[in-house]
Amino acid sequence: MTDSDNDIKRQIANLCCYCNTNPSAKSEHVFPASLGGEALYMDCVCDKCNNDFSPLEIELIQKSPVGMMKSVAEVSGYKKKQYWSNPIKYPEIFMHDHKEHIVLEVGLHGKFRPHLRTQIIKIKEEIHTASSLKEEATEFANLLHEWVKHHRTVCTRLPSNKNDNFDVVKIDIQGNSSLRHNEIKKKIKNEIVIYALTDGQEENLLNDFEPRLFIDDRKRLLIRARNIEEGLQLIETIVKVIYNKQPITSIENYVLPSSEWIKIHFGFDVIKAQRALMKIGLNVLMYYYPELKYDPRLSNAKQYVLNETPFNGGLADRNEIFDKSDSTHQVFFMQHAEGVMVRICLFSYITYLFALPGLMIKKPGEAFGLIVDYEKKKNMYFQNLEEWAISRMQQLGWLADSEQDEIII
Ligand SMILES: [Zn+2]
Repeated sequence: MTDSDNDIKRQIANLCCYCNTNPSAKSEHVFPASLGGEALYMDCVCDKCNNDFSPLEIELIQKSPVGMMKSVAEVSGYKKKQYWSNPIKYPEIFMHDHKEHIVLEVGLHGKFRPHLRTQIIKIKEEIHTASSLKEEATEFANLLHEWVKHHRTVCTRLPSNKNDNFDVVKIDIQGNSSLRHNEIKKKIKNEIVIYALTDGQEENLLNDFEPRLFIDDRKRLLIRARNIEEGLQLIETIVKVIYNKQPITSIENYVLPSSEWIKIHFGFDVIKAQRALMKIGLNVLMYYYPELKYDPRLSNAKQYVLNETPFNGGLADRNEIFDKSDSTHQVFFMQHAEGVMVRICLFSYITYLFALPGLMIKKPGEAFGLIVDYEKKKNMYFQNLEEWAISRMQQLGWLADSEQDEIII
């Protein structure tokens, strides 16, 4: 049977264009919704693949510097029920007071505005509270009391794959001592999750770092400690303090001094972030050229997205004409004699390139692409980028209006 016979069979069976196994659904966004723009859906990706893609997108959109750019640009798309619009979601962000040797948990939201998260922090064997928002502090106290009264469970290990379980510890107090009961759970709901500080933090900060319980932008209680045991000890102390109604010293009026450094640590999986970038390129291509959905010349790139099977792609230098653009992301396809070059640029900053050898969809030298305007929430698709390039060159002042006709791209 020929390749095209197989293509027809798959299309009739309506199989997912990534795994070729499961029936496809209409849930996958062509371009990640949380990066802004108009919502476009694919009808050829199965729910399983769609789910498997989400950890890749978390690495790219929440944990990598793309998350920071998203927050600075105030691109909406996060879930509601949060204190700040456009917060930076994942990275470890701290304010380090070198004089007092205190490292506090900080949040950053739209256009880089820092706020002190509501937190209970251990400082030299005593526990203190800090907060810069009264409403958040009240919610923090309510959540904590509710948790102490009804749950007292902390999650000490998140599953590394889907079918795995959570490790949970339940804390009870008897007299002056605390008891721990280990549990394994399929799902967690009321648990406080303990996160260990990621590797790569500088020594100065590590020396001054103490464990803390804090509330995140999505109104969840979390613990950050140097390791899980340190986190467990902190929560035991907090439970005892609440049981015994001991007072907690407030450092509520701690002002974020402008002279202090706010430290942002990006710990993210570069390969997963690149797989997410390649998926964006493939999705856009298959959306505008549906006849390529099952094309074998896309298979190697799809295998890289799905299984990390080696495939060539990489981050590229910024290009003034392609990448410098206000409030847009771009996905460009350039036809060369050898195949199609795919160029994905997010926030005029992160540019990722990969090639699809042997793919011929236009005449060599021709280009097309999608421009996602995250400010106007609009997508523009260009069948031919020549028109777009001329307007760009005019914008950049590289081309006077009258010269237009003489330029050949
Ligand atoms: Zn699939």
